[in-house]
Amino acid sequence: MAKQTKAELEAAAERVKARHTVQEVLERYGVKIVGNRCKSFCHDGQKLTTQISPDGTFCRCHKCNLSFDVISITQHFNNNCSFSRAVKILGGDLAMTPEEKAMAAKLKAEKEAERKKQEALDQEFRYWLLMKRFSQRMMYAAPEKSGEMAHYYNKSRWADMKLAEVMEKMPF
Ligand SMILES: [Zn+2]
Repeated sequence: MAKQTKAELEAAAERVKARHTVQEVLERYGVKIVGNRCKSFCHDGQKLTTQISPDGTFCRCHKCNLSFDVISITQHFNNNCSFSRAVKILGGDLAMTPEEKAMAAKLKAEKEAERKKQEALDQEFRYWLLMKRFSQRMMYAAPEKSGEMAHYYNKSRWADMKLAEVMEKMPF
């Protein structure tokens, strides 16, 4: 089989998480569940220190302060196998459905567009910063109260305004 992509693995992981509960996977490995608790498997304890979330998506050991979902439980009981191996053990079909493929492509395109936009803003910012520094240097080098000094003073003010404009468009 061809090596699955990261997006395919993530989709498969989501699928196995939706299909299996923590209770079911724990019982598969012989962990006895009492109410919503079981003996912790992360440490060698005899008390019911692990609590299972009501929706069955994760469990938490109150002694170790560790959380597990169906995938990390599977990793634990299979000699700490890899994430992708655990997904496979849980029956994760690594081929994506057409819907998942379309969704992954859409997310990728959105990320790419966001990155390009950010790049363009960065470039604009650098341009006006250089312009500001250049204008200031020219201004200080110009004779006092000369037309040249006024010209570069105005240019520097203009660059400041542009910098503020660009910064406004930046996400942070
Ligand atoms: Zn523990």
